[in-house]
Amino acid sequence: MSIFDRLSKYDYGTLHLRRDEASGLQAIVAIHDTRLGPALGGCRFIEYATHEDAVVDALRLARGMTYKAAITGIPHGGGKSVIIRPKGDFDRKALFQAFGGFIDDLRGRYITAEDSGTSVGDMEVIRSVTPHVTGIDPANGGSGDPSPYTAMGVKRGIEACAKHALGRDDIEGLKVAVQGVGHVGFHLCRQLRELGASLIVADIDSTKTQRAAEELQAEVVSLDEIFRVECDVFAPCALGSAINSTTLPALQCKIVAGAANNQLDTPEFGRQLMSRGILYAPDYAINAGGLLNVAQEVAGYNESIVRERTMDIYNTILEIAERAAKAETPTHEIANAMARERLAAAG
Ligand code: NAD
Repeated sequence: MSIFDRLSKYDYGTLHLRRDEASGLQAIVAIHDTRLGPALGGCRFIEYATHEDAVVDALRLARGMTYKAAITGIPHGGGKSVIIRPKGDFDRKALFQAFGGFIDDLRGRYITAEDSGTSVGDMEVIRSVTPHVTGIDPANGGSGDPSPYTAMGVKRGIEACAKHALGRDDIEGLKVAVQGVGHVGFHLCRQLRELGASLIVADIDSTKTQRAAEELQAEVVSLDEIFRVECDVFAPCALGSAINSTTLPALQCKIVAGAANNQLDTPEFGRQLMSRGILYAPDYAINAGGLLNVAQEVAGYNESIVRERTMDIYNTILEIAERAAKAETPTHEIANAMARERLAAAG
């Protein structure tokens, strides 16, 4: 597929490329949409099999950011960057300085942050070159680790789903199966436990499940069993595509609501969840707490505003569920339509 066919497939937009001989930088900035404000999204620093894979990753992720910001009412557009991780030795500081120069040349149309493979330390290096960076050290006015806020938003989304699907005003006694107890998954488990939910967990890393068992009385099950356990809520908090042709028929839950990005292997699975009577909280709407955290850094970091806005994810998820029920349409389609409405209103 040609590069312009790719841009058209992902409904673009602008794509910037930068190669820097001295540092070995090969980087991509994808800006999907800036109708709501400057594009905001993380910088991914991983190896790619081909340059084309890196471009597609950036395009796909940046488009997701447009929808996430729009549905959450964040005044930012969708963007994402990728630095292709060099195969041999490299000077990390020089690489991120050169990347900072690339970002600076875009004059604020794109603001970066952490993503897979990048850290607060890398953001500090970028900050030495350009102001268009978030996720910096809290000691320097930054917003720090976003995962507690992502977890808080997911917890609020689960509460909204419990209200809509189960008629419940609280989640005490609900059984929640959490796939992946990493940064977000563990915070989520702790917050759910505090509200009286009981937990079932699975993770490829047994030290993490052991911690959840010891500290939060979670029941530990195998990687396959987590899809099959009878529960009220299944919360995917590991990788993408948790809902696929193998797992969907096995699910014995009433709600799917978790932190992972791209939970539906293909959009068709959203429709299949609906026909099985399972309420799905669209991933980019429920996991926006982390984006709210970095977006607030652009405006001037204020934790109480982030908390308040993250708590409001309850209302977003409830609105999506109610509109979906009324229109007899899958929730992910309703979320997409709501995001597009807001983009269109912004002109
Ligand atoms: P993480 O790497 O800290 O945690 C992921 C966990 O999943 C790890 O403990 C890992 O061992 C486990 N895991 C991997 N494969 C698994 C499998 N097959 N079965 C069970 N467990 C498995 O990542 P995180 O920051 O907690 O993010 C979790 C998900 O949420 C990701 O999809 C991420 O894109 C998404 N997300 C995270 C944030 C954030 O603030 N960190 C924000 C939005 C979305």
